[in-house]
Amino acid sequence: MNRRLPGTFNQCQRHLFASSNHPASPAFATRFLSTSRVNYERQECQVLVVGGGTGGCAMAAKLSSRLGSNKVIVLEPEEKHYYQPMFTLIGGGMKRLDQSHRQMADVLPKKAKWVKEKALEFDPDNNTVSTSGGNTIKYDFLVIATGLQLKYEKIPGLVEALETPGSNVCSIYSPKYVDQVYECLRRTYKGNVVFTFPHCPIKCAGAPQKIAYISDHYFRKMGRRNDVNIIYSTSLPVIFGVKHYADALMKLVKKRNITLNVNRNLVEVRHSDNIAVFEDLANPGKLYEETYSMLHVTPPMTAPDVVANCKQLVTPTGFVDVDQMTLQHNKYSNVFSIGDSACTPNSKTAAAAAAQSPVVFKNLIAAIEGKPPTDIYDGYSSCPIVTGYNSCILAEFDYNLTPVETFPVDQAKERYSMFFMKKELMPVLYWQLMMKGYWNGPAFMRKMFANLKFNKK
Ligand code: FAD
Repeated sequence: MNRRLPGTFNQCQRHLFASSNHPASPAFATRFLSTSRVNYERQECQVLVVGGGTGGCAMAAKLSSRLGSNKVIVLEPEEKHYYQPMFTLIGGGMKRLDQSHRQMADVLPKKAKWVKEKALEFDPDNNTVSTSGGNTIKYDFLVIATGLQLKYEKIPGLVEALETPGSNVCSIYSPKYVDQVYECLRRTYKGNVVFTFPHCPIKCAGAPQKIAYISDHYFRKMGRRNDVNIIYSTSLPVIFGVKHYADALMKLVKKRNITLNVNRNLVEVRHSDNIAVFEDLANPGKLYEETYSMLHVTPPMTAPDVVANCKQLVTPTGFVDVDQMTLQHNKYSNVFSIGDSACTPNSKTAAAAAAQSPVVFKNLIAAIEGKPPTDIYDGYSSCPIVTGYNSCILAEFDYNLTPVETFPVDQAKERYSMFFMKKELMPVLYWQLMMKGYWNGPAFMRKMFANLKFNKK
């Protein structure tokens, strides 16, 4: 197959011209070539990866390293690549926003071609994706890695509250609002400090709790804890889906004097009165008003519209309809999905995407070779539940919600070692290994530690 791709740059050029507005930047070139492609060759590739976030970048690195230069196109509109797991620590004032991102041009693999545009429409029957730059990209194989979209606007009054300075409404989930979280903590001296969890699948289902525990510790450190009520209101019927960790977290909530409300879904924010309105999901239609002095909101999330709108590709909930073991599409054998946009019933985390990446890689290479899929994803996900400024519970589990712990210690216990790993080691692992296609999750460590069971219950 001879498929020459236009507009490739070497590493040095990419670095020098990282700004998309520089006429010599790869991004500018891509846009220029895209908009002037009337007389230009049609864009084609062996593998098209849509989305250059956690899963997409890891896949592009693995695939371009195996298939060689210019076989892989990454379609990704954003200039910056965020390491989102850091947002929780930014909310607690432990990291800065500028430590959480890098230029997309520096993160995406050099052997892949980056098209800095959005996917506008999938046409899996004709193996094409049309883009915001007016292009049509033809592929042999497609990897959908478009993540989740945040839907703050689904809750009346929320966007206005988030965008009103001094409203004391905040959210770690978006880079746009994450800096407000620590400011809100610093401004709050008394009253109800309320944390929410929406009624839909979200990324990192532990994060809404993590920021509640960090806030509790913050107020204790500042000597204000007796003046604030911490309220964690979740639309789930339990504090955490995995019983092993839920038991430990219930003890923690009790010990820290945090009020837990289950089946409570935030439906409105009236920020001029500092009132959050919740629906009791156990009694649909029954509303509760909660006055707050600080409100931390986890927004509703959905699969991106462009994915959900392509009915042939998705399940009725809008997620990519892949086999939960092989991650290959149930109808189109040349389509795979990784990460949050897949319909798989695992907890949606970067850790899950890491464990999925070798499976998608091996099964996609098998598909290229005309063979059936061989590798299987067991639903592994992990959630480092940070419980303060020096402690963390490391939850790891699979599709059956059975703990799959890596370390030979009781991971349901709060530990400094896990906190250190989350805060200092995981970002390095993400940028240096996962984004370069070398990190497949900790399964190999689990095997290594299997015979050592210190302090295990
Ligand atoms: P993303 O990394 O979100 O990437 C999706 C990409 O698709 C984006 O770059 C986007 O621009 C692109 N895209 C979207 N639409 C289009 C389109 N139409 N065309 C082209 N490209 C498109 N995970 C952990 O493992 N541990 C944690 O402790 C943890 N904590 C978290 C805390 C917070 C506050 C948040 C927000 C997330 C956390 N996560 C954590 C979750 C983790 O970040 C995500 O699960 C992971 O990034 C998902 O990877 P993804 O590739 O599916 O999506």
